[in-house]
Amino acid sequence: MKLRHSTAIAVLLLSSFVLAAPPKIISEFSGKVIGVSDGDTIKVLVGKETITVRLEAIDAPEKGQSYGDKSKKALSDAVFGKNVTVKKTGIDRYGRSLGFVVVGPTEANAKMIEDGWAWHYKEYNNEERLAKLEEAARKAKRGLWADDKPLPPWEYRARQRAPQVESKAAAASGQYWLNTSSNVRHNEKCEHFQKTKKGRLCERSEGKPCGICGG
Ligand SMILES: [Zn+2]
Repeated sequence: MKLRHSTAIAVLLLSSFVLAAPPKIISEFSGKVIGVSDGDTIKVLVGKETITVRLEAIDAPEKGQSYGDKSKKALSDAVFGKNVTVKKTGIDRYGRSLGFVVVGPTEANAKMIEDGWAWHYKEYNNEERLAKLEEAARKAKRGLWADDKPLPPWEYRARQRAPQVESKAAAASGQYWLNTSSNVRHNEKCEHFQKTKKGRLCERSEGKPCGICGG
């Protein structure tokens, strides 16, 4: 019985290692959570030092995004004011500590995915257990999965960066703006260029030309 049990564990460990090696824990520290920035970033007071921790393996909606507030609140409910242990996996490019945040028996990273308040950040983590938690949350429409197609934060961030690039490109090359409500096209000299409530950059062949600027 004991042997069979340990064999099963060995097989499990081996297969999970082969399929999806979890990130290596490089160190561990404990402290009190004194701040929650959003659904994936917290501040932990360790002695007299405040350490910013970016939760490993998850990506939560940004502040300006749908569910950004609820995601932040969910993480806050789970960890704020509590003593946590951070299992550090590294440092990200902003100098924040990356890690798994553990409160009592609960790992906050997994819980955020399980409750539907964060994505499993598959670009940086391939753990099967976390992929499964997201799958279950999606099926049950928990948290942000109540939406049919919630916008992943990494796509949101890419879109936030994109408009500036587009404007510069437009100024340099001479482009057109389509009012997507009226289907009227404006050229870049027009006062309506990039000023309509709804719209996007477009080709000369799209929409109807503006009566004033000629499109
Ligand atoms: Zn116009």
